[in-house]
Amino acid sequence: MPIPIPCPGAHNGAWRRAEQLRAEDGIPHDITPVFGQPVHCTRCCARTRAELLALPELLAAVWLEALHSSPGPKTGTIGRSPTSPRWPGEPSRILTDHIVGGLLTLEDDIRSLRHLNDRRTEVTEGTAATASVRFIATHLEWALTEHPAAGEVHDRLSANPAAQIHFWHVAATRFTRRDAGTERYSAPCPRCDLLSLFRTDGDEYIECRNIACALLLTRAEYGTHAAGLAAAYAA
Ligand SMILES: [Zn+2]
Ligand SMILES: [Zn+2]
Repeated sequence: MPIPIPCPGAHNGAWRRAEQLRAEDGIPHDITPVFGQPVHCTRCCARTRAELLALPELLAAVWLEALHSSPGPKTGTIGRSPTSPRWPGEPSRILTDHIVGGLLTLEDDIRSLRHLNDRRTEVTEGTAATASVRFIATHLEWALTEHPAAGEVHDRLSANPAAQIHFWHVAATRFTRRDAGTERYSAPCPRCDLLSLFRTDGDEYIECRNIACALLLTRAEYGTHAAGLAAAYAA
């Protein structure tokens, strides 16, 4: 068994910052990290499994959103940025491609690292995603311990399988508006024109949750934008 390391999960962030300050400026601290068993802690392992197993149902909800979403308020292409959706369901499609593409890549990665047979080509995207989730769940303990990126600190760019699964889950949960403590803003995004502006409790910025846009606005910027729309409407 490898020697336990502090879990790379986000919950050890305070310990990592304190360690950095100690290394740079000699500032002591008394924060104890949560150790992995031996890489990820038991809580991160359980959460990752739950988030992974929730993905097929969330992907179905994202797909339903595409079928039932309404077109944006504007038509025409003049003045639109390249991030503007070309049809109403496009944000759902982009998110689905992101998550399903990520699942299949992670599955292929595990298969190649563990010298397993190639993935079977499934008929539909839904069955492919579900089969991939099942495969990754079977190999999850390995992926959170032995995968070359298993020790990487969790962030959005990390190849750590636990971080990847977490951010797919976050994106799908937010997209389907199942996250609590989130406020939806009534004005469309000034960049992509979708009703996709949200702010989570405690966040400084209002963010566009169309992942192809991901604009961040301060509350003052949103206020100016909303006032401009209201003025245009009044005129
Ligand atoms: Zn952890
Ligand atoms: Zn946007």
